Amino acid sequence: MTKWIWRFLVDKNLLWAKVVRASHGEFVWENSGLSKVDGKRMQPGWWKNVVSICRGDEGKWMRDNVEVVLGDGELFSFWNDWWSGEGKLSELFPRLFRISDNRAGRIKSMGNWVEGSWTWNLGWSREPRGRELQQVQSLLSIINRRDLRVDNRDGWCWKAATNGVFSVKSAYETLSRERRQRNYQIKEDELTQISKIKAPAKVTLTAWKVIKGRLPTIDNLIRRQVAIQGPNLCVICNEWEESVEHLFFSCAKIEEVWKEVILWMGKQAVFHLKAKPHFNAFANLGKKEDVKFLTAVWCCVVWCIWKKRNECIFKQGSWSKERMVAEIKTRIWGWSSAFNLNQPNADFRRWNAAAQLQG
Ligand SMILES: [Zn+2]
Repeated sequence: MTKWIWRFLVDKNLLWAKVVRASHGEFVWENSGLSKVDGKRMQPGWWKNVVSICRGDEGKWMRDNVEVVLGDGELFSFWNDWWSGEGKLSELFPRLFRISDNRAGRIKSMGNWVEGSWTWNLGWSREPRGRELQQVQSLLSIINRRDLRVDNRDGWCWKAATNGVFSVKSAYETLSRERRQRNYQIKEDELTQISKIKAPAKVTLTAWKVIKGRLPTIDNLIRRQVAIQGPNLCVICNEWEESVEHLFFSCAKIEEVWKEVILWMGKQAVFHLKAKPHFNAFANLGKKEDVKFLTAVWCCVVWCIWKKRNECIFKQGSWSKERMVAEIKTRIWGWSSAFNLNQPNADFRRWNAAAQLQG
């Protein structure tokens, strides 16, 4: 999730970032996360999820680590971006914002370089008067604290990394550091831990193999130099080569299943593409009392994927997202009474419509 936000911020020329702008409009960075400039509602979908996670409690650690670095003023909007260190200027000085003659302007367009030093030149549609004059003074005292740099470009600094550049590794380390004390994490002794998950043993064993990368997926077979006949394609999408990461996490069709299951539990998330962080993130989607349920659901999903994959290869099975999601729900329902999971909902119809997590 953080990676998407970061790349969206720093690389405006990425194709997907352009597509996001074309369909959702322009965004600015605030201390509350990414926010839309025009305030209109966003289209539902992947990007909306990313944005809402970055704005919610879950995104706090990310917001704490992103800092605007002022350079030549080319990138940030003077009134709308969170660059001043105090807040969005359009919100701090709404009256001045109203009489500005350059409400959408970049910082760069609000002044000039005079003999090597920056001089503000804020334009007004009419002269400020009365209390507005005082506000202009306060505004200037805020923005004068920030230095523009003619030879540097505007950008963002990722405070968690010493070089200021975001990497998934540093984000993950920051996140795990924050979560380590309070949340469920899979530890070194994985098999013991996973075998305690409230699901049938064959299911938890498969989940463990997924996490350990020990399932005979095609990439693993090739690594073990087992001869493969026919194409190496993923049998679910028939587009990409099969690997543990692809089959269980990044295959577009499988992603849909995860999304649907998460939605059913009333959660929102975008996930890691590696098994272990994916499992950990999933286990921590809810409150502490939900861990038992969430870990069982995770195991159930990967087990159903593996079963379906084998059916497709060996028994000419066919793919249907709806059928898979229905199967997952039914299985969990079965286990939840057998394993006495923390599920208060005793009516299957209601359960099928929405898993009632406590969090
Ligand atoms: Zn696939």
